[in-house]
This record gives sequence, C-alpha cells and structure tokens, in this order.
Amino acid sequence: MDDYTTYPSGLRLTGRRVVVVGGGHVAQRRVPQLIAARADVHVVSPAVTPAIEGMVGSGEVTWHERGFADGDLDEAWYVVAATDDRAVNEQVSAAAEARRIFCVRSDDATRATAWTPAVGRHAGVTVAVLGQREPQRSAAVRDEILEGLREGTIVARHQRDRSPGVVLVGGGPGDPELMSVAGRKALMEADVVVADRLAPRELLGELPADVELIDVAKLPRGRSALQEEINRVIVERALAGKRVVRFKGGDNFVFGRGYEEVIACREAGVPVTVIPGLSSPIAVPAVAGIPVTHRGVAHEFSVVSGHLPPGHPESLVDWAALGRLTGTVVLMMAVENAPLIAEVLVEGGRPATTPVAVVCNGTMPGERTVLATLGTLATELAAHDVRPPAIIVVGDVVAVAHPAHFA
Ligand code: SAH
Repeated sequence: MDDYTTYPSGLRLTGRRVVVVGGGHVAQRRVPQLIAARADVHVVSPAVTPAIEGMVGSGEVTWHERGFADGDLDEAWYVVAATDDRAVNEQVSAAAEARRIFCVRSDDATRATAWTPAVGRHAGVTVAVLGQREPQRSAAVRDEILEGLREGTIVARHQRDRSPGVVLVGGGPGDPELMSVAGRKALMEADVVVADRLAPRELLGELPADVELIDVAKLPRGRSALQEEINRVIVERALAGKRVVRFKGGDNFVFGRGYEEVIACREAGVPVTVIPGLSSPIAVPAVAGIPVTHRGVAHEFSVVSGHLPPGHPESLVDWAALGRLTGTVVLMMAVENAPLIAEVLVEGGRPATTPVAVVCNGTMPGERTVLATLGTLATELAAHDVRPPAIIVVGDVVAVAHPAHFA
C-alpha cells in the first residue's frame, strides 16, 4: 500500500540549530549534508568517528563531548537521533516531541517524525526519494533518476541551457564512460556539435536528431586551412544564435588548439566556456596500469609533442634537456618520429635500457600495450606495426608496472 501519510517537504536549515545525537557511522553519513545545507550542526556524543572529529577540527560542527541531555534540544529546529542505544534514541524522541521539533530516528523509522530521503542533485534539481522503510530501494531509484538526468535519457527539455555561445568540451581519452558529467550535459544541450576524430564517437549517436553534427574530418584541409575553417564555423553558428559544442578527445587545451578557438570567439564577441577532459597522457597510461609518477621512482613527468622531429626548425622542444631528466617522459603524436626521439634521448643521457611502453588505442576497443626500451623502441614499433593514436611512456615507472618484463 502506498503511504500518503508522509508529507514531503524541503527544509531551509541555514543558520538554524540542528542537533545530531550520536557520533558513529550513521551520524557521519548525515552530518555532511547538514553542513552543506549551512545548518548550525551540534553533535552530542561521548565519542565520535575520526571523520566527524575532522569536521569538528575544521569548525564545521560543534561537538558536545558527553551524553545527551534534554536541554540540548533547546533552540533546535531539527534533530537526528543516531545513537546505537535505543533507550537514548527514545529519550531524544520524547524531548523532541515535547518541544515540537521534528526528529529523525536511525534505529526505528516508525518512532520518527521525520525521514531522511535518498538525495542527489543534478543541474539545479534536487532529487529526494523516500521509500517506505526500504532505504536501499530508494537509493536505487535515486541513482536511476540521476543517471538518466546525467546521461540525458531523462531530458527535461525546458531545463536546457540554450543560450548561444561556444562550449569547448573535452571528451576524455576515448571510452565514453570517462567523459565528465558536465561534458555530457553540454553535449545534450547542443544545437551544433563540431567533433574531432578522437572524440568519443559513441556519444554522437545519442544526440537528438535535430542536432547539427559537423565532422571536422570532412572540412577542407591544407596547412592552416582546417583550423581557420573550424574557427569560422563555430563563430558563425554561435552568431546565428546556436549553442555550439566543440568536442575533442582528451582535453581541448592539451595539443588541441583549443585556445585558438577561444581567441577566435573572443574576437567575434561570442561567449565561450571550457569543460576540461581527462587528458590522454595521464589517463591512457593509467587505464593501461602505468602510473606517470611513483614515490621514489619518478617525481616529475613531462608531456611532450613528438609531432615535429628533433632538430626541426619549428620545434620548441628541448630534447637534450629531456635526455638529462630522470622523470617520466610521455610522448604524444610521436609514433612516426619515435625512433629518432629515442636516439636523441639516449644521446642526451638516458640509458638505452630505459623502459618504454607504447599504449595504442588507449581505453578503446583494441587497446594494446607494446613494451620496449629506448634501445629497442624502433624495432618493436615496426615489429608490432604500431599506428596512431598511441601514447609512449618513457621511464622507470614502466618497469614498476611491468616488473617481470624488465627484471
Ligand atoms: N587533446 C588530446 C590530445 C590530442 S593530440 C588529449 O588531451 O588527450 C593526439 C595524440 O593524443 C595522439 O597522437 C596520441 O598520442 C594521443 N592520444 C589521444 N587519445 C589517445 C588514446 N585513446 N590512445 C592513445 N593515444 C591517444
């Protein structure tokens, strides 16, 4: 039977005294939400968990280090009875009742006058689910609703942000699951999506049919024509009143020419915002099981474009300096120039035995890792027919991840 005798309501607790009786794990779960609501939180308990102690230390809650006394509820607006002692919780209930204060009971909902729903938030909406004493079910329903809102399968259309402008969205390293919640939301709100080859393509299939999809691979190429054409298209569509998402793999500001787009928008007076993405030089090794830093092994990591070969007049990379470093070097766009880069790093001082991992198609179907050393890199790349996109990790962190191979 559905229970209509529970009346749902939101509370404004800002600055109001809320008493939590008990300092254990139930209290620990409730207190952060009360702090977030800016309540004046008082915890009454002879002992508290280390997490609550931390909140006391940071001044977010007041701790009364003793047992409960009825007077604790004077001036209170809301009470949570969360001790593991039923008699104490009963005493709290009774004191609350006498003062006409709503009281949550962690031990026995039937004795409570208030219930804490399973809560989540998304884009300005608070989802609160009250189950009839089935907290797991309400949490599951809450999760489903939030997931639907995040993924866009539940779309409250009038809630969409449709103001014109350009949003640079970083799609992460490839697996759509690794894209940010904010990025997904921006995609669902777009009128126009300008997508690169490396942006997580699966997500484009989920776009509503009326969204204009511009595939950068199909725009006219040429030495600098492509980027100019992208700048032109995003500005033009935004000036026509559209909400444009510039969708790229990884992060738009990491070898993504994202800031050129920012400048183009600014010059045209088009509002532009940025949603960062997980960048492949960190995320791809991570998913392949390789940390870019490790205590006692690498206390620095350098992310370097191998797009131009060492010695190229336009290269801004100091390859000799990289040869002298001991930390991790992560090479991007480097498959073609890797043999020469490995040579230059060894000339610069890196041992030829330095471990190397080449991660191809990271986080995507077909991901594979080829292991080598600086000395064998050229041979291994050819032997395994390695093609872009690939991340090349140089340094002892590779041996930390693959000790048997480099023993
Ligand atoms: N903006 C992107 C990088 C663009 S440069 C980012 O932040 O990740 C393109 C290079 O990124 C590729 O040549 C390759 O070196 C690397 N890369 C991007 N995604 C990759 C993936 N899934 N697997 C391996 N390398 C990847």
